[in-house]
Amino acid sequence: MIRPPSLAPRLRSARTWIVLGVLAPLGMLALSASMLLDMRRDAWERAEQTSQNLLQVIERDIARNFELIDLSLRAVIDNMKASGLNETSPHLRQLILFDRAGTTRDMGALIVLDENGDNVIDVSGLPARRINNADRDYFKAHRERADLGLQISPPLTSRVLGVPVIVLSRRIDKPDGSFGGVVLGSLKLSYFSGLFERVSVGEDGGINLYLRDGTRLMRHPLREGDVGSSIAGRSNLAKYLVARTGSFTGRSGRDGIERVYSFTQVGDLPLILNVAASVREIEAEWRDKALVVGLAVLTLCGLAIALSLLFGRELRRSGAMQAELERLSRTDGLTGLANRRRYDEMLALRWAEARRSGAPLALLVVDVDHFKRWNDRCGHSVGDVLLRGLGCRPADAVRRPGDLVCRIGGEEFAILLPGTDAAGAARIAAGLHAAVAGLAIPEAGIEAGTVTVSMGLALGAQDASDTADALYRRADAALYAAKAGGRNQTRSAPRPAPEALRLVEA
Ligand code: GH3
Ligand code: MG
Ligand code: MG
Repeated sequence: MIRPPSLAPRLRSARTWIVLGVLAPLGMLALSASMLLDMRRDAWERAEQTSQNLLQVIERDIARNFELIDLSLRAVIDNMKASGLNETSPHLRQLILFDRAGTTRDMGALIVLDENGDNVIDVSGLPARRINNADRDYFKAHRERADLGLQISPPLTSRVLGVPVIVLSRRIDKPDGSFGGVVLGSLKLSYFSGLFERVSVGEDGGINLYLRDGTRLMRHPLREGDVGSSIAGRSNLAKYLVARTGSFTGRSGRDGIERVYSFTQVGDLPLILNVAASVREIEAEWRDKALVVGLAVLTLCGLAIALSLLFGRELRRSGAMQAELERLSRTDGLTGLANRRRYDEMLALRWAEARRSGAPLALLVVDVDHFKRWNDRCGHSVGDVLLRGLGCRPADAVRRPGDLVCRIGGEEFAILLPGTDAAGAARIAAGLHAAVAGLAIPEAGIEAGTVTVSMGLALGAQDASDTADALYRRADAALYAAKAGGRNQTRSAPRPAPEALRLVEA
């Protein structure tokens, strides 16, 4: 059965914790960012919906009032065609002409001008107020062209009422088609300001009503010079003219505030209505929330990342400490060489390798000659210095990466030489004798050539019945022989017959 790999080592790895500790807050950050973006989109959708609703309500009201006035104008024109109208009394004529004329609270005057511009018939009573409007642009326009239909004037001051109005007018044709005058109805500008004021568009928002030529009829909130000013030539006007309704974001030319302009044409009239909402105000509530949430999330993420980095660093430190302890537990404190424990581990490992590969494994056991004398003569501390000096010697003679020099006892060393035959091991032993002969420790009065070692050499792992312990015992016996033979020499253990090996094992 295939088992899934264990998670435990991964959870102990500093890198895993650092990666998790960085990825998790980053994920949290991404999630919060997408949530905040959603909230921002919601704020914009709400603002757009509100603007659309406002536009619709205001547009309907304006369109209805204009329609009412236009219906009155058309009714007057129709009624003027009634036969015998000129023969009736002025009172009756007025009743006939204005019988279908509607009135609204904000309607100004409803009058008929003759072909000279004189007010001849007036809905407000008899006799008609004496005014002449022949100089007005709408009068001149109707006089010059018969096909203008309904005309809407820019804001002007009414001569009848003395207040600002806009004038809706239609041409009156004589029976022969020639110019017979103008019928006009005026609408007080206060109607628009009253209508717009009922609506809340925020501190920086606004509502505008324009003629298609860019003349502003009304603005809310109203400032000096707003009424009658023109945005002709401005990029915003071009945008209003390309579509019947729409919206766009732009920066106001007069106060530099960025706004979302939602606009619509009013009915079929040459009027453009817009509701402008300030971008800052649309996003204000969202921005406050985003700031709080963003700061909180950033702080938490920063903390989480910092903590996981710290945790990772501590894991690394304790890992390094553990590795160091591990290394120390296999190192001899005095010489820095591998210790007995490492020797045992490596002997077992090299033995198994040699078994598999069939390559020879050589073992040299080294013992310092008359070491006790150095101790007795110079003191234990000099003995230690000598041991340290001796510990460095094998490094000169042993060069292969697989070779291992260990201090396995007081002044006893073992050298494991994998893949080395008898001749090679003997060469290394000779090199070691020469290196030890060169050892001098002047501060302890030890001259070169005075320290010697004896060595026992054994080869193993060639035979199936051979063992690592037997190899050591053979090397140790060879060392004993070297001591007995006069010291400062190496003796090789004879290769035992398989039966002999079995005897040794027994
Ligand atoms: P031989 O040639 O027969 O080996 O003579 P020897 O004097 O070396 O005899 P032996 O190997 O029996 O003596 C080992 C001595 O090494 C005994 C002890 O005083 C000394 N010794 C063991 N470990 C240490 C050590 O860590 N430091 C020091 N200074 N001396 C040690
Ligand atoms: Mg000894
Ligand atoms: Mg000794």
